[in-house]
Amino acid sequence: MNESRERTDARIERNGDRLREECGVFGIWGAENAARLTYAGLYALQHRGQESAGIVATDGIEFHHHKGVGLVPDVFSGNVLDTLPGSIAIGHNRYSTQGSSLLRNAQPLVVDFREGMLALGHNGNLVNALALRNELESQGSIFQTTSDTEVILHLIARSKSTEIERMIPEALARCQGAFTLVILADGKLIGVRDPRGFRPLCLGRRGEAHVLASETCALDMVGAEFVREIRPGELVMIDGSGVKSYSALTPKPSRACVFELIYFSRPDSEVFGESVDQIRRRLGRTLAKEHPAPADIVISVPDSSNSAALGYSEESRIPFELGLIRNHYVGRTFIAPQQMKRDFGVNLKFNPVRRILEGKRVVVVDDSIVRGTTSRSLVAMLRSAGAREIHMRVSSPPIGWSCYYGIDTPNRKELIASSHTVEEIRKYLHVDSLGYLSMEGLRSCVSRPDDHCYACFDGKYSEWYGEPLGKLAMERPQTRIEGRR
Ligand code: SF4
Repeated sequence: MNESRERTDARIERNGDRLREECGVFGIWGAENAARLTYAGLYALQHRGQESAGIVATDGIEFHHHKGVGLVPDVFSGNVLDTLPGSIAIGHNRYSTQGSSLLRNAQPLVVDFREGMLALGHNGNLVNALALRNELESQGSIFQTTSDTEVILHLIARSKSTEIERMIPEALARCQGAFTLVILADGKLIGVRDPRGFRPLCLGRRGEAHVLASETCALDMVGAEFVREIRPGELVMIDGSGVKSYSALTPKPSRACVFELIYFSRPDSEVFGESVDQIRRRLGRTLAKEHPAPADIVISVPDSSNSAALGYSEESRIPFELGLIRNHYVGRTFIAPQQMKRDFGVNLKFNPVRRILEGKRVVVVDDSIVRGTTSRSLVAMLRSAGAREIHMRVSSPPIGWSCYYGIDTPNRKELIASSHTVEEIRKYLHVDSLGYLSMEGLRSCVSRPDDHCYACFDGKYSEWYGEPLGKLAMERPQTRIEGRR
């Protein structure tokens, strides 16, 4: 089996049939035990990346770092945090795709260059990473990882400037795609969002300390108050004189990932100025208006669909029930024995509640359907638990296109909605009816509909690397040097 095939299979294996966020970032400046607080922040952001984690801490000169493969508490078990002293720290959770290079590509990446030490954590995906890497390699650069993030480090190191607040924008001006970064350099904590703002980043305050985090749930975790979101194209630099803001990158129309609101972010977070829970309830209510169903109960595919199912229930006045229970301890299915997955499949993750389902007409609310394989297994499971009718309702439009901006999606041809009508999907899932939220319905649920990316629904990519769109859309891009971040 060649490497890319192996990689794809590994991704499918670990990914199941869900889209996966590919990382969370956290940073703190001016706190005693910065590494411990970063650990707590990463813990809250665990849903954004579960395969590796890392923390870099400093008091301004020496960098102390630790990273490893696994969940946050596994990577930082024992007294590891005691080896990371300092009042400034950044951390990173990662979901990646290639077993052999998991540790090599774990972040934050740390380098020692002419201006001193620099550490960087990246959420997103550079769509022109391969072109940049080829250029840099042809000029003599030697890469240590297969990650697109290292390209950013090389570009920063090559800057003619000597001030970090100039070097970073100069490097990022060459990058296309999605990049939310936290950086430690020169005793400063720096946060940046790409000009389209694909991925979120917020600023918080904890006493005298300043905090950066992918989502507000991480601020809550460390007892920090939400101050504001970092704007698309903005660079913030935090040091003893406070928070300085720079309009670092040429503005472009905003393309905040709408899937952060549908599925990726935690429902207790505020993201892109929206309450994630409230948005999902709105999606569910709109779905109920667009696709009513003759049913006795509404259930969710837990946990990410809970809010949408509650919204559907509120609007339809059909009672919400806990008909499916999720096993929360299978987060590391990628290291579970293959035989377990072959034998038990979706049962590893979900268990139906027979007493609730027996003889009932059931509305099942899910936030998305990717390949359809998990939904099909779930439906079979619900039927075997006694559900009389199953009406599947999806709180997003059909996913017909791959994501190139930091979300792990299969090739387009593996997305069931890229080649099947809704009726064909209904038949494949063996459900009595199937209804997806419309694009208009989705847009009506967010406060600034024109500011979002919807490319996985409509194929309208705002950033790509120059290939004809048809080719880009059909194949996984080679710019994905390896698991994006
Ligand atoms: S393509 Fe989809 S998942 Fe990717 S950034 Fe756009 S909305 Fe988000």
